[in-house]
Amino acid sequence: MNLHDLFAIAASRTPEKLALETPSTAWSYKSLLRAADACAASFARRGLGKGDRALFFLGNCPEFVIAYLAVIRLGAILVPVNLRYRRLELSHILADSTPRLIISEQALLSILDEAGVVDMGVPILLAEQMADLPAGADGWHAPRVEGDDLAVIMYTSGTTGRSKGAMLTHNNLLATITGLLAAWGWQANDVLYLCLPLFHTHGLVVGMHCALAAGATIQLRAKFERGTTLDELVTGRATLFFAVPTIYTRLVEELQARGSVDFSHMRLFCSGSAPLAAETFTAFQSLTGHTILERYGMTETGMNLSNPYAGPRLPGSVGTPLPGVSMRIVDTAGREVAPGEEGELLLRGSNVFDGYWLALEKTAESFSLDAQGRRWFHTGDLARQDPDTGYVTLLGRRHELIISGGFNIYPREIEELLMTHPAIAEAAVIGEANAEWGEVPVAYVVCCAAVEDGDLVAYCRSQLASFKVPQQFRHVVGLPRNAMGKLQKHLLKDA
Ligand code: AMP
Repeated sequence: MNLHDLFAIAASRTPEKLALETPSTAWSYKSLLRAADACAASFARRGLGKGDRALFFLGNCPEFVIAYLAVIRLGAILVPVNLRYRRLELSHILADSTPRLIISEQALLSILDEAGVVDMGVPILLAEQMADLPAGADGWHAPRVEGDDLAVIMYTSGTTGRSKGAMLTHNNLLATITGLLAAWGWQANDVLYLCLPLFHTHGLVVGMHCALAAGATIQLRAKFERGTTLDELVTGRATLFFAVPTIYTRLVEELQARGSVDFSHMRLFCSGSAPLAAETFTAFQSLTGHTILERYGMTETGMNLSNPYAGPRLPGSVGTPLPGVSMRIVDTAGREVAPGEEGELLLRGSNVFDGYWLALEKTAESFSLDAQGRRWFHTGDLARQDPDTGYVTLLGRRHELIISGGFNIYPREIEELLMTHPAIAEAAVIGEANAEWGEVPVAYVVCCAAVEDGDLVAYCRSQLASFKVPQQFRHVVGLPRNAMGKLQKHLLKDA
């Protein structure tokens, strides 16, 4: 089976049903797949074939969805690019993925130009020109596309170093989609309000793919805008909302300013891509009556773990493995840790990617074999599993662990505490070299009220072991985050 086959099931069941709507357009399942076929025929005439890469530097719009459906219909490979990327990142991805076609939009052309696209001679098709493509696909036949064929090469968000192209097959994406459809009880009458970028796995795979596979409706928006998004969520028909923690933080602020809202039509609010602070989880619950479902995934693996749809959703936890996903937590020597102990989280399952594009060594470094010869992916995430409930808590990235005088310090624990202080809006903790202790924690804080550092120290001291108390508080106006709201700790020193 391939992804098109899955979407075609929904389209054949309810061809006239609304698949996609924006404030100015509406597409039924039939019209969407027809447009995708016509687009595939046009792409084929431009020389895009099986295995060729089509790079998308394009915002959320119906043309993104249609062109993507066309790309996978052809057995070609989508390379979605973060819209915040500029010359350095773009030229790396262009050179690494060597696309045969670029899909973009007028407003982004100059950025592509600066990245040297013209010299590469790759044809660019603009979303604005797509309406002029021939409407039919007569005489054109889709090639055979297998589950093992690549569907997407998604460049990792690059919170450190150069981003790598994670190769995701149709089977990988099918595994994530079918797991989520079951685990979150997707229904054909669901309406997903989707304002997350389609260039990231959260918007593309969790959002768009699941909705189309379920026969649901996508309300596609270019981006999150706190006032508009909240208005549309309150007055619209949405039943599902997916977001990153920074969006929930903004929504909580907006909700606090507005007072109560009626979210009785909503079925599920999900959060992922970065840690959701317990503070935000609780505030959202008391303001809306809805308990956010937090889940954990990554570019390389799609979705891995999730709090339950029917069952307790716990703040600070990412729940248990999704259908078909296996996990282990291991120490630095690769031995499974005792229940309740912390270590690196490893994953196995059909959702786990094939490897990094043109990077055999990096691929090899990311996997290890267990005693039975089974291949496990090293996520780089530190985790602990509750021995009784099986719920997993993520402790942070392995390379962000601070070791001070031989003690392990998980920055997230300190960050969560700092965020409960009324004067602190945001906090990030990193380790800094120290002659006596090896490393000590240092906090970067964004304050929303005046506060003395001495008060912050006292606040931490009253609730944390002394070695975890930040040695310095650096006051900044904002924290560096990427397009998904993920903290970019390597940029903190310039904040
Ligand atoms: P990306 O590939 O951009 O989706 O980033 C994946 C990484 O985001 C994971 O390896 C985690 O470090 C982090 N992440 C994703 N979901 C969560 C979550 N619910 N809580 C904490 N970290 C998360």
